[in-house]
Amino acid sequence: MCGIVGFFGPDDVVHDIVFGLTALQHRGQDAAGIATFDTNFHLHKGQGLIPDAFKPKHLKKLTGNIGIGHVRYTTQGSNEIDLAQPFTTSYPFGLAMVHNGNVINFRQVATRLHDKYHVLPKTSNDLELIMYTFASELRIKDLDHLSVVDIFDAVETTQELVKGAYATITMIAGHGLLAFNDPLGIRPLVLGRRDTPAGPIYAFASESTCFDYLGFEFIKNIGPGQAVFIDKNFEVHYKNKYAAPKNFCVFEYIYFAREDSTIHGRLVARERVRLGKLLARKVIDAGIRPDMVIDVPSSGYFAASGLAEAMGVPYRRGLVKNNHMGRSFIVSSQAGREDIVKKKLNPIRAFVEGKKIAVVDDSIVRGTTSRRIVSILREAGAAEVYFISSAPPIVSPCIYGIDMAMSTELIAANYTEDEICQFIGADRVIYQDLSDLEELFAEDKGHGGGCFACFSGKYPTGDVSKYLRHVQEERLSQRHEKKRDKIPSVSPKAPAPTEH
Ligand code: SF4
Repeated sequence: MCGIVGFFGPDDVVHDIVFGLTALQHRGQDAAGIATFDTNFHLHKGQGLIPDAFKPKHLKKLTGNIGIGHVRYTTQGSNEIDLAQPFTTSYPFGLAMVHNGNVINFRQVATRLHDKYHVLPKTSNDLELIMYTFASELRIKDLDHLSVVDIFDAVETTQELVKGAYATITMIAGHGLLAFNDPLGIRPLVLGRRDTPAGPIYAFASESTCFDYLGFEFIKNIGPGQAVFIDKNFEVHYKNKYAAPKNFCVFEYIYFAREDSTIHGRLVARERVRLGKLLARKVIDAGIRPDMVIDVPSSGYFAASGLAEAMGVPYRRGLVKNNHMGRSFIVSSQAGREDIVKKKLNPIRAFVEGKKIAVVDDSIVRGTTSRRIVSILREAGAAEVYFISSAPPIVSPCIYGIDMAMSTELIAANYTEDEICQFIGADRVIYQDLSDLEELFAEDKGHGGGCFACFSGKYPTGDVSKYLRHVQEERLSQRHEKKRDKIPSVSPKAPAPTEH
C-alpha cells in the first residue's frame, strides 16, 4: 500500500503535492518522494514521514507547474532510498512515474523488455517494469508528433502485458499528466479539479480526502483499465478499453483508506459503520451481551460505533492511542509491531474495570497485536473480553501491494477460531462473515464487485500459485538475511533528474 498524487496547473504545484501526500501519510511512512518539471525534472526523495523527508530547502528547488509525489510503504525489496518513488527516465524522453500496487508477472515483463528492447530495469522496484514497458511502447511512435491516441495505445499495451494491481501517475515532459489503472481496478485512484484565477489545476490522488483538504472538486474515480490524460492545454482525455467489472480491494474500506475518503461512491466511514452493524447479529447469536463496546483506535472506531448502535449497548473510547506512533500494520518487523502496540495504547481503567468488553478491531492478521490488546484490557481489570473482527478471517496473503504476512504467519490460515481465541486470550472471538461482506459490496451493481482474495483465496488475476510460491520463498530468504535476487542491471539510458 502506497499513496500517490499528481498535479498539473498554471503555477508551481509543489505545495499542493506536499499537502496531498500529508493527507495520504497513512498509506506509507517509510519514505516519500516528489518529482516536478519545468524545463528539467527536479527530484527529491527522503526517508520517513513527509516533514522528515522534505525541508524548505528541498521544496524551494522543486519548481514547475506539473509534478507527482509518493509515500512509500515497503512491500517489495528493502527499505533503501533508491527504491523510493518517483522514478524518472529519459528513455525515450522525459518521463517520471509513481505507482501504488504490485506487478505479479515481473519476470515475463523483464524478459520481454530485454529481448525486444534491450532494456533492463536497474532495481527490484516493479514500478520500473511498468515505466519501461510504457516508455518502450511510446518509443515506437512518432515522437515528434506524439498524439493522445499514441499515449493511450502505449497505456493499453502496458495494461495487456503487465499483470497485477497498479494505479499509476506519469509526467510526460512537454506533453502532460497521465493516470491509468490496471485492468481490474484493484487499487484506488481519483481525479479532481480546482479553478484558480490563472486557470484550472487538475489532480490525481489515491484518495479523495486530498481534495477536501486542498479545495478540489471531485470529478471521478479512475475505474478498471481506465486512463485519463491532461494535455498541455489542460484538456482532459479519457480512455476506457476495459469495461470489465471492477475488482476493487475491499480491504480499503475495512482498514487502508481514510474514513473521510469516498471511493466508488461509498464513504469509507459509512461502510465501516455498516460492517459493525452486520456484526451485531453474529454477536447476539453467539449469546454475547457486553456492557460496553470499545474500539481499537482508530480504524476500529466506526465499526465499533455501528455494533454498539445495533446492539443498544454503550460505546466508549476504552483505549487511548498515542497518535505520534506509527500504524502497527505497516511496521515491517514483528518486534517493531509489538513494541509499538505496547507504547501506543493506554486503557482507560475507570471505563473498562469490572466490565464485559466487546473490543472491535479492523482485522486479525497474525494475532499477536490482538493478544496484546486483550492483555492490556485484562490488566486494566476487564471482567470479560470479546474480540470482534470487522474483517472475515484472513486466510491468504495479498499479492496486490499489501504486505500482510505469509500464509504460514496468517493465524486464520492455520488455526480454528477456538484456537485463535485461546491464543489471543479472549473470552470469545467473532469474525465478520465473508458472505455478509460479499453481499455488502455485491449491492454495488453499477460498479461490479470487489477483490476478496485475502479472505477467499480466489485471486481476480487467475491462478497465482506460482507467484505465491515465489513470494513465500523470497520472504523466507529475506528473513534469513540473504541478498535478494535482483533483476540484472543494465539501464537503458540513465535517468538524469536534478537531485536535491
Ligand atoms: S487480496 Fe485483500 S488486501 Fe489484497 S487487494 Fe484483494 S482484498 Fe485487498
